[in-house]
Amino acid sequence: MSMKERLSYLFKNTAFSKMRNFIDKTTLFAFDLDGTLAPIASKPSVIGIPDPIRQEFAILNKQAVVAVITGRSRSDALHHLGISPHYLIGNHGAEGLPGWKDQENEFFGITNQWQSQLDNLLPLENRRGIMIENKGSTLSIHYRHVCNIKYAHKMILQAIDKLDPQPRRIGGKFIENLIPVSAPDKGIAFRILMEKSGCQKGFFVGDDETDEDIFRLNDANIFTVRIGINVFSDALFYLRNQSEIIRLISEINNVLKNKKDQLIN
Ligand SMILES: [Mg+2]
Repeated sequence: MSMKERLSYLFKNTAFSKMRNFIDKTTLFAFDLDGTLAPIASKPSVIGIPDPIRQEFAILNKQAVVAVITGRSRSDALHHLGISPHYLIGNHGAEGLPGWKDQENEFFGITNQWQSQLDNLLPLENRRGIMIENKGSTLSIHYRHVCNIKYAHKMILQAIDKLDPQPRRIGGKFIENLIPVSAPDKGIAFRILMEKSGCQKGFFVGDDETDEDIFRLNDANIFTVRIGINVFSDALFYLRNQSEIIRLISEINNVLKNKKDQLIN
């Protein structure tokens, strides 16, 4: 879709009819989890998908090919989802892609190396409040609970600088995510899923920095929606906030149902 169409509010008439015309049963519907299907929680471990969203998501999951692509590990994401989508991709794209088992084992080896290096670079006595989370294919360093945020962040960045092999680093709110350089990002993962699923079109909703890898794909067959307006985003359309996701999924369900009914009649 062209630059001119960038960043329209999705529930405006013209934008919404574009979505209605675009989606059909050959579309792969993919969603980020935190901040998209589930509202952001102050403690990431306690996020929850509100029941009405889960119900609409379950309906969609029955009538279309659905994927969740998240920074969480697959098992953690599944615990929060409570429903198994057709594809569940964890670790920002690095976990769960069909056909990537061997590479995934390599990523596991790399994150284990980082973990033991970080244990030396950030000795326990200096690490109060810093939490290293080994998520299998990637590793996250959390520093939300330290006394001196600025100092802790600087110390963490210095430690990351010394890691071998060097990671791809994605910073977030009180978190640094370390990803093996050869791991697929969300954009690559999304493309692979479109290919594997045989879906000719893709639809994606996300809210944060790592989702830009999908927004950036810039393909007429990919329809992208960002939660929250951000002028720097490459997404085509936006929703005002996460609470609008319920309306979005139920509208998608209605459109798919109507298109199916039209085929039958
Ligand atoms: Mg998110």
